[in-house]
Amino acid sequence: MQLNDLNKLTEGFGSTDQMPVLFVGHGNPMNAITENIYSKSWTEMGKKLPLPKAILCISAHWLTNGTAVTMTDKPKTIHDFGGFPEELFAVQYPAPGAVDYAKMAISSVSSTKVHEDFEWGLDHGAWSVLKNMYPKADVPVFQMSIDYGKSPQYHYNLAQELAGLRRKGILIVTSGNIVHNLGMMSWGGKEKSFDWAIEFDAIVKKAIEDNDPTTLIDYQKLGKIATMAHPTNDHYLPLMYTIGLRSKTDTFEFFNTTFDLGSISMRSVIFS
Ligand code: ZN
Repeated sequence: MQLNDLNKLTEGFGSTDQMPVLFVGHGNPMNAITENIYSKSWTEMGKKLPLPKAILCISAHWLTNGTAVTMTDKPKTIHDFGGFPEELFAVQYPAPGAVDYAKMAISSVSSTKVHEDFEWGLDHGAWSVLKNMYPKADVPVFQMSIDYGKSPQYHYNLAQELAGLRRKGILIVTSGNIVHNLGMMSWGGKEKSFDWAIEFDAIVKKAIEDNDPTTLIDYQKLGKIATMAHPTNDHYLPLMYTIGLRSKTDTFEFFNTTFDLGSISMRSVIFS
């Protein structure tokens, strides 16, 4: 596609009020089908949010070499987990794709080539949340992958190139967890957490309150608590997009601020 065509494409979509950006802690895939404090708050959030023209989801569960966006009209529901009940594998989230909006995302980014993807659909980082937020599955959805070889700073910078999408009616939902250590999960004491987890979560909270992206980008400087909170950083990187998309005029609100299974922070934030 030529640049002129892309410009025409973008012009064809009128500007809107700035849409919110969310970071959602998705946690246990069972939250998709369990009525609990997390799924209930996603449902409530869906009722409060302005109706988007499309949703861009950036999920911890789509890690690639390079960055890609989904270009399918009917994204499939991907059950990217094991060991869960049949009823979870039976879930379908039949939201339409958002090919034209995905093209708009591609054209927004000039620092790298964003690839067109025809294989991926919606992973559980996306649908477990959206199923509760938009249960009618009537809002078109596309995903953007996370280039897993890249630094937090890279993702933060890339997010800034996507900021214009917020004025095109696109709700950007990033999905991960602020503390995510599967090896330390305790299925017994659900509410109790670890000192390192509480400390890391509190530092992230404060950095968001202070609008201090540097602390969040350079989180590895926090040392041991950072490696405990994120033995791998796939669930942390979506937060880089959220803070990169934050605008000067945004207010913020935290929700789902508790820990699940001891070592999973469900803390979520909306910028609007
Ligand atoms: Zn996950």
